[in-house]
Amino acid sequence: MVKLITGTLIQSYNICKRQTWLMAHQIIPDQDHPYIEMGRLIDEESYDRDKKKINFENVVLDLVRSDEGDIIVGEVKKSSRAEESARMQLAFYLYKLKESGVNARGVLLFPEERKRIMVELTPELENELEQIFKDIERVIFQATPPPFKKIGYCKNCGYKEFCWS
Ligand code: SF4
Repeated sequence: MVKLITGTLIQSYNICKRQTWLMAHQIIPDQDHPYIEMGRLIDEESYDRDKKKINFENVVLDLVRSDEGDIIVGEVKKSSRAEESARMQLAFYLYKLKESGVNARGVLLFPEERKRIMVELTPELENELEQIFKDIERVIFQATPPPFKKIGYCKNCGYKEFCWS
C-alpha cells in the first residue's frame, strides 16, 4: 500500500481528505490556478545554488545537501501556513529513504519568509505516518469522494472550480 502513497497525498491528507481522494483518482486540478503557478515559480527559482532533484520511487526530492557528512533533504514551500502538512510530507520522504537504508534529516525551506524548520524522523513520527497510510487507504478506496466542506484552504485550491460548481 505504501507504494501507492506519494508525498503529495500525504500533504493533501493533512489539508483536505476530499483533495486526497481527487488526487488519488487522477482528477487533475486546475493547473492555471495562480497559487499552483506561484508554487511552481518558487520551486524553479529559489535556492538555485543548492538545487538538485532526485527521483526516488514515486518521490521527487526538491533538494539534497550533505552537511558535514549528514544527508539533508530539503523541501521548498511557498508559505508556512500549511506547515504541518509540509512537515508530514517531508517526514514521508525521510521514511521512504530510511526504507532504502538511507538515514536523513529534513529541512523545510520557506524562502519568501526566510524561514527553515528541521524535521527528524523519530519513532513517534514513524508511527504517526503509519496511521496516516492506513487512513489514506480507507479514504481513497471509498467509491465517492468525501463530501465538500468549505475550509480556508479552498480559495487557494486547484480543485476550487470542481468543488464549488
Ligand atoms: S476546494 Fe476545498 S473541499 Fe475542494 S478539494 Fe480543495 S480544499 Fe478540498
